[in-house]
Amino acid sequence: MNSTAPFSRHNSIIRRTLAPAMSPGPGGKSACIFCEIAARRVPAHVVYEDDATIAFLDLFPYTRGHLLVVPKHHGARLSDLPPADQHALIRTLAELSRRTERLTPDYNIGLNTGAKAGQVVFHVHFHIIPRYSEESPFDVIDRVRLTDPEARSLLDVLSAA
Ligand code: 5GP
Ligand code: ZN
Repeated sequence: MNSTAPFSRHNSIIRRTLAPAMSPGPGGKSACIFCEIAARRVPAHVVYEDDATIAFLDLFPYTRGHLLVVPKHHGARLSDLPPADQHALIRTLAELSRRTERLTPDYNIGLNTGAKAGQVVFHVHFHIIPRYSEESPFDVIDRVRLTDPEARSLLDVLSAA
């Protein structure tokens, strides 16, 4: 098990692949990728949306059904959000947790805050990572880009209220 640095190799791969996503957000040089997705200017496989939050499939999933739960309000970390947006985010996290249980009762919820904690996209987001096997959830794995057929089959399961 490699539990001391679970995301380090993953992060170097993802950083190279997703360089445009590592943006500072509004006011910075380039647009924030999650703001762009929330505004529907960049496509994503969206499974849930309300006034304050959006949830979509991770482009490089750890496991089948890996979701990102994101506030529409830009902030790098949870503590940057106004309380109403924090509460909305947790409500949506609970809703998507319930839907994830259609896939498997076992899952991790994660929130990386800061580069040293593995944050790559500096717009706060929860990960919901379904678990299907007994392997350690913290083993480093190679992540493969989500395919459209896989995304469609997941949308069928996760988009329904
Ligand atoms: P972090 O390491 O910041 O907690 O996680 C960022 C996550 O965002 C990664 O799991 C990465 O695969 C995902 N991601 C980055 N850019 C995009 C994108 O443009 N679309 C989607 N759907 N996921 C993204
Ligand atoms: Zn943003």
